[in-house]
Amino acid sequence: AGFTVAIVGRPNVGKSTFFNRLLEQRKAIVDDVSGVTRDRQYGVAEWAGKSFNVIDTGGFVPQSEDVFEREIKKQVLIALEEANAVIFMTDTVTGITDLDDAMADLLRRSPKPVFLAVNKVDNHERYLEASEFYGLGLENTFFISAMSGSGSGELLDAVSALI
Ligand code: GDP
Ligand code: MG
Repeated sequence: AGFTVAIVGRPNVGKSTFFNRLLEQRKAIVDDVSGVTRDRQYGVAEWAGKSFNVIDTGGFVPQSEDVFEREIKKQVLIALEEANAVIFMTDTVTGITDLDDAMADLLRRSPKPVFLAVNKVDNHERYLEASEFYGLGLENTFFISAMSGSGSGELLDAVSALI
């Protein structure tokens, strides 16, 4: 029960870094090693006096490009079913990839709230580059650094406003 937020996105954008940071205060984090073999991790986060469930997706290790894309799309669809809202993570170091485009297509049609989190915006230069992500056409766009925590307060404020 309760409000559930799923974090989706292609590998290496920083989903687990963000997830771990979110759960740090609660120490609800499960060990990293087991996360590799399962395709999702569950935790409880607290922000602005509200608590909510968080799902970190994408522990799956792809065998081939095809399986890879199919599996990632499956994760998005499951997340949309299970969650009340979705954080779609990308990263500005890599920029927009075909997989980002494919996922954005699925998520733009979602009846549930979607928050685009452009990660690895560690400095001002990265912030300027990151504006290309407005091109994905998602309404709620946030620029964050999961590593330093910058920008994530605004994102979490927006998420917790739904609860
Ligand atoms: P996931 O595959 O989406 O779960 O991504 P991870 O959380 O495992 O992170 C992938 C890599 O990106 C790791 O080397 C992280 O240290 C790095 N990373 C995560 N967040 C940031 C960030 O805000 N800035 C930078 N520069 N690197 C980051
Ligand atoms: Mg991960």
